[in-house]
Amino acid sequence: MSTLDSLTLTRIPAQDEALRAEVRAFLAEATRDIPAHIRARSWSGYSTEFSRRLAAKGWLGVTLPQEYGGGGRSAFTRYVLVEEFLNFGAPVGSHWIADRQSAPLILKFGTEAQKQFYIPRVCRGEAFFCIGMSEPNSGSDLASVKTRATPNDQGFVLNGQKIWTTNAHHCQYMIALVRTSGTPEDRHKGLSQVIVDLSLPGVTVRPIEDLSGDSHFCEVFFDNVQLGADALIGAEGQGWEQVTAELAFERSGPERLYSSIVLFDQWLQYVRTPEGRTDSARQLAGKVLTQLAPLRAMSVSVQEKLTQGASPIVEAALVKELGTTLEQMIPAAIAEDLFSRDAEDVPVELLQTLKYVTEASPSFSLRGGTRDILRGMIARGLGLR
Ligand SMILES: Cc1cc2nc3c(=O)[nH]c(=O)nc-3n(C[C@H](O)[C@H](O)[C@H](O)COP(=O)(O)OP(=O)(O)OC[C@H]3O[C@@H](n4cnc5c(N)ncnc54)[C@H](O)[C@@H]3O)c2cc1C
Repeated sequence: MSTLDSLTLTRIPAQDEALRAEVRAFLAEATRDIPAHIRARSWSGYSTEFSRRLAAKGWLGVTLPQEYGGGGRSAFTRYVLVEEFLNFGAPVGSHWIADRQSAPLILKFGTEAQKQFYIPRVCRGEAFFCIGMSEPNSGSDLASVKTRATPNDQGFVLNGQKIWTTNAHHCQYMIALVRTSGTPEDRHKGLSQVIVDLSLPGVTVRPIEDLSGDSHFCEVFFDNVQLGADALIGAEGQGWEQVTAELAFERSGPERLYSSIVLFDQWLQYVRTPEGRTDSARQLAGKVLTQLAPLRAMSVSVQEKLTQGASPIVEAALVKELGTTLEQMIPAAIAEDLFSRDAEDVPVELLQTLKYVTEASPSFSLRGGTRDILRGMIARGLGLR
């Protein structure tokens, strides 16, 4: 039994839940030979080939309309898929952002031509997207972005720099938040979202190495990049409203609860053995599960609101803040547990998995919006500031 099986506080509709067995069987086979310390990369694990296998099963763009190549299923179908991908530590990084954010954003705000061009490619695992929001000195203070798309007779000329752009070195496209009018002092006004083909002349992508030695995020430079008029998504000047709605998708999903689940399951396996079983470990397992179950219930209910077309920005911030706190508590608590034991007894693979998750965990409360910012949003939502 895996951790997921214990989280039964909320039920997902039966027709969506019914998919779980097939997905599990597929993933058990597909990830069988990947060691836990690699699977622990969770949604940062990258394999184009694996994403295409999922596309062939109809598991990319599952919520997108069938007329654009999607599955036409409910958000809960996707929830089941995503939970299982994370539970198995499947290398889903290549399609992750396109499936979660970019294609739904294009569906909501894009022109008919943009929908017809991009969405079927996302569903086939042929078009991968990255998010160009952060810039040096404009991370939390996103309204101050300086990258500028200046209108000209062919469309826009793009100049500036983005940073921490996950998988920019692998993706074909970026959806960038840029200034199309006014100045950074105008704050929320004059911002727009544009689709940037990263193969265009004038685009330079430089990977950055993180604490664990992986290079998953990048610096991206734009030097007089000529974009067509059809690069604009939605209305000029509406970028801020579009981005804040998009962030609710980014913040409330199962990926904000399960970043440490491969480690937790590895550790549980050990705790179930005669050498691993101790009273304090059992207490820790109970503590994690009793926090995870209500968090999953909250995440599912935010999903429900998103499905209804609402924009639950504060609720999504709450799920992310509480979720990443738990995701960070797990490696710290497991380290404390394992280091109180006889080193000979602890499986090496478990220690390697712990090492990776410990190194990755500081980023959990940074990516997708920092803890301090989310707490500020929650306080404002509760009328406390
Ligand atoms: C693994 C990873 C992947 C990422 N992927 C992407 C991506 O794909 N695309 C993208 O656009 N970005 C990405 N980011 C960037 C991420 O969203 C930013 O790091 C984040 O928004 C914070 O911005 P910053 O790093 O500039 O920090 P800053 O905004 O400089 O913040 C530094 C510290 O000051 C605090 N702080 C700042 N302002 C306030 C305030 N008003 N009140 C209280 N405290 C404050 C912050 O909480 C933080 O602790 C990624 C980051 C990580 C770690």
